[in-house]
Parts: sequence; structure tokens; C-alpha cells
Amino acid sequence: MADLLVVGSVALDSVATPFGKVDDALGGSATYFSYAASFFTTVRLVATVGADFPETHVRLLAGRGVDVAGLQTTPGGRTFRWVGEYGYDLNEARTLDTQLNVLASFRPDLPAALRQVPYLFLANIDPELQLDVLRQMRVRPRLVALDTMNFWITSKRAALLRVLREVDVITINDAEARQLAGEPNLIRAARAIGALGPQVVVVKRGEYGALMLASEAFFVAPAYPLESVFDPTGAGDTFAGGFMGYLASREATDRASMRRAIVHGSVMASFTVEDFSLNRLTRLAPAEIEARVAAFHDLMRVENP
Ligand code: AMP
Repeated sequence: MADLLVVGSVALDSVATPFGKVDDALGGSATYFSYAASFFTTVRLVATVGADFPETHVRLLAGRGVDVAGLQTTPGGRTFRWVGEYGYDLNEARTLDTQLNVLASFRPDLPAALRQVPYLFLANIDPELQLDVLRQMRVRPRLVALDTMNFWITSKRAALLRVLREVDVITINDAEARQLAGEPNLIRAARAIGALGPQVVVVKRGEYGALMLASEAFFVAPAYPLESVFDPTGAGDTFAGGFMGYLASREATDRASMRRAIVHGSVMASFTVEDFSLNRLTRLAPAEIEARVAAFHDLMRVENP
């Protein structure tokens, strides 16, 4: 089992879906990621929050064994806030407001112990910061993965292209893959993104599952079929947490393990969407993960005639 380092956002989210709403609820790319990955391996979190960030949220992460030593409080600052909504098509998040607050000036200085962690996830955050963290690694991690979103594709495209050249895996949702590649066809978009640097391109497609392009080969997995989805926020980050957590726990980077990692990512995401914020994850038992992984394999099985 190898350690997994993540840098990303820790947020207070205000989210409305057709099924309810929450205000200033715990969110953030690194939060969902680390909570999900903590079911598989030791996660070390690097992020910042403001003085207004409730201590109970830090305890929640620490209670799952997430190493929160790298979660800095910026004195006098306000925590990053995201305001979003979804219509009946839960695949599309509409951002109503993004307040970077303490994220605007965050430049972490990684302690020596973190500069040699073998699995690194650059969760959705300013690509300049993603590159900065990657450059601080003293030993090139065995696997570096990155996630991003429309906000950064639009506002920091040049920096994003720079960091993409240096990562092994990108996880990105379908609309953002099309936007990044400037290509409406998803298969061509995945290929075009692969040409920007990452050897492995994982496209998250919400209720339609995930698509992976690695070494010219495609792999597709459905989403776990659910009858009650309340809030898709965090599904992508939770997916990445299951994906990277699984690989780090197996100390693997091979393609067959990546296929299994996609199943684990999909299973973790299927729990997150069943409630708002991290609520469902906080009630999750490891046995439920295993049961859903087994159900997932059944669901994908095709007998030879
Ligand atoms: P997703 O997994 O794609 O649904 O990501 C949802 C999380 O992304 C929310 O909890 C937000 O706090 C976070 N988020 C939204 N916008 C940004 C941004 N511009 N930078 C970093 N994190 C963000």
C-alpha cells in the first residue's frame, strides 16, 4: 500500500438540485477525493481554508485517517466558496458563483516528507498551483494524475497546457473534454487530449459512466444504475479518489489495474450522488463498497455464446 498525496480545493458549497439545496456545506475537489481515497490507502492532503472553516469538517477528514497536517488555515482569510445548481439533467452543473478567497494566493511549501510520495493527484484547482506542487516533488512520483474544469480551461489555459505535458493521467468530464480539445466528438477529443501529454485519458460521463483511452486502447464502464440521485456534486472528485486510491493501495500503474480502478471510482461516485455534500460517504461502510464492486462486475458481464 503506497501513500497518496492530493492538492486541491477544500470548499464551502451552496448547491441546489431539483431535490433540495444546501448552503455552505462541506465540499471541494480535494475533500471529496481524500475522503473517498481514504477507504483504500493513506491520503495526505495539501490545501488551505479560511478562519471561517468549521473545525468539525477537519475532524471528519482526520477521523477517516486523512493526514490533515498539510491543511493550512490562512489567517484572516475566507474559505473558497462555490455556488452551483443542476436542472433535471444532473450531468450538467451550472456555476452561479466562484469565490476563490484564500485559494487566490495559496502557494504551498511541501514539507520534505511529502516531496517523495509515490502517487500524486493534482485535484481541480489553479493549474499554476498544480504545476508548482509537481515541481516541488523531489522524486518523480510513480503516477501523477490531474483533474480540471471549465473555470480553469477558460481562465488559465496556457498554464493548464504546461502542467498537462508532465502528467500521466487526466480525469475530466465529457463537456470539459470537448471544451479543452475544441472537438465535439468525444473519441477525437480524448485522443487530442492524450496528444497534450497524458498517456491515459479518463473521461467521466456522469450517468453514462466513464471512458478510458490508454495506449491506443479504449475501455468503457457504465455508471452504477441508481434510482435515487440527489446531488451529483463531488461525483467526479470521488471517482478520482476511488481510482487513485485503488491504484495506490495496489501499488499499480498497469492498464489492467487501471480498468479495475475505474470500477472502484465509479462505485465510490455512485455513493456520493445519493445525498448532498459528503453525507452519504460519511455513512459508508467498506463492506458496501465491496458489495457494489461485485454487483458492478455482474452488471458488466457478457457470456460468450
Ligand atoms: P465535481 O466532482 O466535478 O462535481 O466537483 C465539485 C467540487 O468542485 C465542489 O465541491 C466545488 O467546491 C469544487 N470546485 C468548483 N469550482 C472550482 C474551482 N474553480 N476550483 C477548484 N474547485 C472547484
